[in-house]
Amino acid sequence: MTVTFDNSYARLPDRFYARQTPTPVAAPSTLIVNKDLARELGFDPDDLSAEVLTGDTLLPGTDPIAQVYAGHQFGGWVPRLGDGRACLLGEVTGEFGPNDTRRDVQLKGSGVTPFSRRGDGRAWLGPVMREYLVSEAMHALGIPTTRALGAALTGERVQRERGYPGAILTRVAASHIRVGTFQYFAGQNDIEGLRLLTDYAASRHYPNAKNPMEFLDHVVRAQAKLIAGWMSVGFLHGVMNTDNMAISGETIDYGPCAFLDAYHPRTVFSSIDQTGRYAFAAQPDMGMWNLAQLATALLPLHPDEDAAVEEASAVLNQFPDLFHKAWTAKFRAKLGLTRSEDGDGKLISGLLSRMASSQADFTLTFSALNTRDASHEVSDEGAWDSWAPDWQARLAREQDPDTTMARANPVVIPRNHQIEAAIQAGIDGNYAPFHRLAAAFTRPFAPEQEDMDLTRAPTPDQRVLRTFCGT
Ligand code: AMP
Ligand code: MG
Repeated sequence: MTVTFDNSYARLPDRFYARQTPTPVAAPSTLIVNKDLARELGFDPDDLSAEVLTGDTLLPGTDPIAQVYAGHQFGGWVPRLGDGRACLLGEVTGEFGPNDTRRDVQLKGSGVTPFSRRGDGRAWLGPVMREYLVSEAMHALGIPTTRALGAALTGERVQRERGYPGAILTRVAASHIRVGTFQYFAGQNDIEGLRLLTDYAASRHYPNAKNPMEFLDHVVRAQAKLIAGWMSVGFLHGVMNTDNMAISGETIDYGPCAFLDAYHPRTVFSSIDQTGRYAFAAQPDMGMWNLAQLATALLPLHPDEDAAVEEASAVLNQFPDLFHKAWTAKFRAKLGLTRSEDGDGKLISGLLSRMASSQADFTLTFSALNTRDASHEVSDEGAWDSWAPDWQARLAREQDPDTTMARANPVVIPRNHQIEAAIQAGIDGNYAPFHRLAAAFTRPFAPEQEDMDLTRAPTPDQRVLRTFCGT
């Protein structure tokens, strides 16, 4: 055995979690093991048997817990949520980056916990496949995210609108500490717990932060960068509740998430997001809203109440500018621009508004820029011709725009209709489409010839307009 888990979170006081072993399953079988990630973490991929991936066998050092947290769900306060269908096995230690030495390994779908409320603690194949494919695609796209180490079938049926095959995802994260974890302790008026959590999270993710306001500053910066990254690839998270925002700056909780096909800023996929709270273009505002909840939760740690509000507001109010800078840098690169010029913002917004009115496919439009001609996508009367000359003139003042664009504009992204098709096949016992996508999504910028059909936009009857929470 190559890895022994450590359990620093389980060494925090009892009120941070419930001790919880995964519930054994009927018939474990492996769907997939992410061998590259396994090796990166120090596992021998052969150690990750079906029984390990379902929690029926526990690796050395496992001290399984379900973490408690709270959160605002669609703006409504829920004082206690917590891992209702997940179990943190432990932490792998290693040198993952500067000051970055721990990775959580968690089973998602591992059975009921004290936080399950009315849920069954289980997951079915659909959401497990979706999270595996999308989180690994995000990683390949260069966007911070939790990872998928593997997935297994339980051999049990899970009852939703009908019975589906049960499955468990093995998720890897820099940590599973959320905005909602801070809200839980603040909501309980447990100031000592809040302080312990802040010290723990700071030492794990932002060891240079000398106090809670500096910690907040790091989180604000990480989220501004993250959400700019999402928008640069057309990613819509779909359920940005405060319990689904990780302090580490990783994308977490792939429920009703989806990538845009046709670009429109007000796109919403989630069946339960009736007001468009988490629409595509609302994501930065919602990110800021969530960070305001974190700032509020941290206020009691400040020795001076009045100064606290002032300082927290100052830190928080950096967000719009940080986001705008990160977003502009991303979209500048997508247009082939590395230098900064005054008219760049207008050039970017000019293209996006023409894409919206043309219902242009987001990914196809930007990858067509690599060939200098996206007139097929930006097809509204006169739209392309009224934009392209200014762009061409601007490109002439760049060194190597082709390389810049090739690195910024992915060709293969996890399109919803392909994921849905892989899930449908999986329900019928055919896992080949899933494996095909899992492989293709690891090379979004340089697809193999055989993957070129995956670059196509959905036909009108293939288009997925609604997605559902991953329960
Ligand atoms: P999510 O929408 O995935 O962020 O989940 C919100 C909350 O519901 C979390 O506390 C989850 O642990 C819990 N939850 C979701 N699905 C289930 C389930 N099948 N059984 C128990 N708890 C669940
Ligand atoms: Mg969640």
